[in-house]
Amino acid sequence: MKTPLHIMIIPTLGCPSNCAYCWSSEEGSPVMTMETVRETAEWLRGYRDDPVTITFHGGEPLLAGAEFYREALPTLSEGMDDRGPFFALQTNLWRMTPEMADVLAAYHIPIGSSIDGPEAINDSQRGDGYFRKTMAGYRTAREHGLDVSFICTFTRQSVEHREEIFQFFLENGFTLKLHPALPSLRSAEPEEWALSPEKYGELLVYLLDQALEHMGEIEVMNINDLCRCVFSRHGTVCTFADCMGNTFAVGPDGGIYPCYRFVGMPEWVMGNVRDRPTEEDLAESDAWKRMHRFKEYVDGACAECKHIRYCRGGCPYNAIAPTDGEIQGVDPHCPAYKRIFDEITDRLDREMFESPMMGMGPFGSAPRRRARPGVMALIQQIVMRR
Ligand code: SF4
Ligand code: SF4
Repeated sequence: MKTPLHIMIIPTLGCPSNCAYCWSSEEGSPVMTMETVRETAEWLRGYRDDPVTITFHGGEPLLAGAEFYREALPTLSEGMDDRGPFFALQTNLWRMTPEMADVLAAYHIPIGSSIDGPEAINDSQRGDGYFRKTMAGYRTAREHGLDVSFICTFTRQSVEHREEIFQFFLENGFTLKLHPALPSLRSAEPEEWALSPEKYGELLVYLLDQALEHMGEIEVMNINDLCRCVFSRHGTVCTFADCMGNTFAVGPDGGIYPCYRFVGMPEWVMGNVRDRPTEEDLAESDAWKRMHRFKEYVDGACAECKHIRYCRGGCPYNAIAPTDGEIQGVDPHCPAYKRIFDEITDRLDREMFESPMMGMGPFGSAPRRRARPGVMALIQQIVMRR
C-alpha cells in the first residue's frame, strides 16, 4: 500500500506579525527562489512515487507574493499527475489580496489561518491590529471561493477564557482547531505563555463536551481526530503517528528538515534538494537517526500504555527539540493525551454497555436514554462525512 508523503514548503521564515508566543519566525529571512522551487519539484519527482500533499508554511508564506505562487504551483505539479499533489497553505492572511486569492483558488487550495478568539483576547497575545488584518484577509479569501479554517492557540492566559473563545467560534460558524502554546526555545522565559499539560488535558475534555453538546453546529477538529484515532486504533494525524520518514520540510534555501518546526535549526538539516538526496542519503543524516531513535524509545517507554497504538509518544519535536536532540522522555503533553484518550475510551465503553443492543438496563428496567449525543454518535458522523 502506498504511504502518503507530506512535504511542507517554507518560502520564508519572515513574518509581518509579532505574536508574543511565536517561536518560528525570523526577521530578515530570505524568500525561496524559483530555482529552489524547481529543484524541490525535481527532487520530489525522483523521491518515492507515493501521493504527495504539499503545505506552504512559514514564517508567513504569503510574503513570497502572488507571482511566486503563480509559477511555483504549476512547477510543483508538473509530472506528478498520479500523485496529486494536493496543496494546502497556512497563513495569517494579512497579505491575502484579490490577485493572490485568484491564484490559490485556481488550485482549490484550502487555507488554514490563525485566530485566538474575540478581538481583545486575540490581540492581547498576537499584537494590536492582528484581528482586524486577519479578518480583512479572511473576507477576501471567502469572496474568491477559498475555504478557510482557523487554528486557535490556547496559552496559559487565554485558557482562562475558554468559554468565550468557544462561543466566538460557534457564533461565527468557524471550524475550530486547537493548538497548545509551546515553551519557546528562543525566549529567556520559555514557559511564559506555554499551556501546561494538565490545563491542556482539561481543555480537551471541555472541548469534547462542547463538541457533543453542539454536534452539527461546529466541528472541533482535534476532537474529531482524537476520536478517529481511538476508533481506528491508529494515529490519523502526525502527532499520533510515526511522522518520521513520511513528513519533510524544505526551508527557503532548499534545506530538508524532518518537519517545519525544525526549519532554521542547522543541526536538524538532513540534506538539500539541490543534491536530489534519496531516502538512503537522508537516512545517513544525524537528524534522521535522532528522529528514528525516538520511535524506538517510544516502543519501550510507552509499552505499558493502553493508548500506544494510536498515540505513539506524541510529537517528537515537542519531546526532543528542547533538549537539543537528546531523548529524555516522550512528548511532555503525555498527561493531556492520556487524559483525553482515557475519557474517550471510557465513554465509548459506557455507551456500549448502555446501548439498547445490550438488552435491558439493570434489574430489567428500560435502558437509560442519554440527554445528548455520545462519542459513538460523533464517530458515526465523522465516518459518514468522509
Ligand atoms: S515533528 Fe511533530 S508537528 Fe512535526 S510532523 Fe512530527 S508530529 Fe507533526
Ligand atoms: S499517552 Fe503518554 S504514555 Fe501513552 S502512548 Fe501517549 S505519550 Fe506514551
